[in-house]
Amino acid sequence: MSDRSPSTLPVPLAVDRVREEFPILAREKYGKPLRYLDNAASTQKPQAVLDAIEHLYAHSYANIHRGVHFLSEEATAAYEAARGRVARFLGAHSPAEVVFTRNATESINLVAASFLRPRAQPGRTIVLTQMEHHANIVPWQLLAEEQGLRVRPVAVTAEGEVDREDFRVALAEDPALVALCHVSNTLGTINPVEEMVAEAKEHGLPVLLDGAQAVAHFPVDVGSLGCDFYVFSGHKVFGPTGIGVLWGREELLAAMPPYQGGGDMIERVSFAGTTFAPPPARFEAGTPHIAGAVGLAAALDYTEALGHGPIEAHEQALLAKGTEVLRSVDGLRIIGEARRKVAVLSFVIEGVHPHDLATVLDRDGIAVRAGHHCTQPLMEYYGLNATTRASFAFYNTFEEVEALGESLGRALRILR
Ligand code: PMP
Repeated sequence: MSDRSPSTLPVPLAVDRVREEFPILAREKYGKPLRYLDNAASTQKPQAVLDAIEHLYAHSYANIHRGVHFLSEEATAAYEAARGRVARFLGAHSPAEVVFTRNATESINLVAASFLRPRAQPGRTIVLTQMEHHANIVPWQLLAEEQGLRVRPVAVTAEGEVDREDFRVALAEDPALVALCHVSNTLGTINPVEEMVAEAKEHGLPVLLDGAQAVAHFPVDVGSLGCDFYVFSGHKVFGPTGIGVLWGREELLAAMPPYQGGGDMIERVSFAGTTFAPPPARFEAGTPHIAGAVGLAAALDYTEALGHGPIEAHEQALLAKGTEVLRSVDGLRIIGEARRKVAVLSFVIEGVHPHDLATVLDRDGIAVRAGHHCTQPLMEYYGLNATTRASFAFYNTFEEVEALGESLGRALRILR
């Protein structure tokens, strides 16, 4: 932010007003206000998203695509408009590049099954990093075991950045595909994926980016990232659960076989043989999560209206303040000190178990997560079983950061 002149600085976010738009943030527990710092696990939903879902079910709901009646047409229009909204959010060439799935996990499994399986050659590697979420490890391991491939994790530095030299070495080992997280859910690291994709492309490699932790914090442009596949989940970007996105290059999707079979993904079915619909329908077997797609579109409208500049500025200020507060806690070590981070703070405190800590914080109304955060290989690298993680969204306040610091102080007096 420091290179911007004052006249181009974003208008500060009116956080108090924003919070009023999230009904759940008004909750209290144990006589304390809820302080929700578990946004990397899932984000809360603004009234606009709840309204969009209710409106669909109350006014325009029917099954989509096959109906000739007006309700089916309205529901189909809403679902396809949502696809267009996601395409615009990602800077996709066409809505046909956007496949709706259940979540980021399913999107990765789809790419493993439909893109990599048919072209898998025994002995080749799948390059990922030591900081991946299990969702970007296990689908590749399953395929590797089946097809005789090998998963090749790239090392991470002590600060929590990808070891770029090891990445270079891995790219030269004849990989079949590169799969990287855009942002680490445990460390908060924003990986320099533009550069890393460009390096992979020098070797002609296909690249999948796991954007599950990126999309809540900044907008994404798949064109400038240069990747082939980009995945994320609706629930981590203020939308509903049960809806996810796979963006893929049109020509790649067009060449991929179906992932699941059923209704809606066919062109013509006969017992002599079945032909399949073009993408994205080819990958959306069965009745999809219509309301989920509509709610996701409303969430993307909502964050765009707030402004990505103000969101980023506020979150970076929360990160700076949170880092300062945590550093003042006796015996606390922050896990993940990359140069570019989103507002995720994982930490351990000498002599205190992360779960005990999270339990004491909960009694103060502070919701944080303790555990391995589905990144066990990363935990192994740091020699830890678990961390406590506070993860922020634009609706969090400086007062909440201070409350976290005070509650940690109290917890240490109880637990040590
Ligand atoms: N990748 C990353 C980096 C994540 O943080 C998560 C969720 N914690 C996932 C993938 C999987 O997301 P979902 O469970 O919504 O499929």
